Amino acid sequence: MYNYDTDKFMKNLYEGVYIVDKNRKIIFWNSGSEQITGYKSSEVFNSHCYQNILKHVDKTGKKLCYDGCPLQNTIETGRINENDVFLEHKKGHRVPVTVKTFPLYDDDGKIVAAVEVFTDTRFRELQYYENKKLKQIVQTDPLTNLFNRRYLELHIKNCCVEANEFNSLFGILFFDIDHFKHINDQYGHNIGDGVLKVISKTLTSNLRPGDIIGRWGGEEFIAVIKTTDNFSLDELANRLRKLCQNSSYKHKGNSIQVTVSVGGTLYKPNESIKSIIARADKAMYESKKTGRNKVTIK
Ligand code: GH3
Ligand code: MG
Ligand code: MG
Repeated sequence: MYNYDTDKFMKNLYEGVYIVDKNRKIIFWNSGSEQITGYKSSEVFNSHCYQNILKHVDKTGKKLCYDGCPLQNTIETGRINENDVFLEHKKGHRVPVTVKTFPLYDDDGKIVAAVEVFTDTRFRELQYYENKKLKQIVQTDPLTNLFNRRYLELHIKNCCVEANEFNSLFGILFFDIDHFKHINDQYGHNIGDGVLKVISKTLTSNLRPGDIIGRWGGEEFIAVIKTTDNFSLDELANRLRKLCQNSSYKHKGNSIQVTVSVGGTLYKPNESIKSIIARADKAMYESKKTGRNKVTIK
């Protein structure tokens, strides 16, 4: 029934896969099934799935083998079923599994067998949370919890592609904390870190949905803003600048405050990510040169 490659594929699946004939006699049992249930193929082959093995129950404890067996239902109706059930492991404990059942047809279109594919639900959830955790690690700057430079670059590249394809303009704002060296020199690096966190929190808490901000490096941040005009970019940049100026890091009864210099620019069709960032950086330096705690839009 199976050629070598299918066999190899089945062996490497972490999902359990088994096939029953019309009378629910087990005619195929892969290694995923062995791992999840504890039963070897040789132990279950040719026995009926309702014969004292697996004994699926639902979350209310209802025994499904005699009333509500998803495989039986698929054999009778041809329906594809998906259920969260609990099977009995060979050692007696219950394992939560997500079960899918599919009909198998002969050449005349008659149902001759049914397949059950089942996954250990905990594995699926674990994988989901691990993926989420991994994504968080890969995209996030650990000190400030903002997006990191790698994510910013990816995001801006995507915005460039979208802007060129759909004419959806965007702008970026480049923030650099003013005289940050003085903060470190005066209070030490740990307090400098605290100030960075406060500014990050102010910036990220005051963006509109759809706009993002990340840490570009040291005390530099880039915000990517969905906008089509310089006026609204300037307005937003000045609002954020003033909010930073009015944020403070509390330390031993003191309030430590810093200001930011900002450069902003809109994307020009077909330009590169390097070019838009260079222009925003240049605008930020103009804010520095002309007094700091300022916004320059180019
Ligand atoms: P200005 O930008 O206004 O010209 O002055 P500045 O003092 O901020 O200038 P510069 O960019 O030369 O210095 C940035 C300082 O930020 C230098 C570095 O010690 C500090 N810095 C960079 N990353 C961190 C960090 O993660 N934590 C702390 N505490 N300090 C950092
Ligand atoms: Mg700097
Ligand atoms: Mg600086």
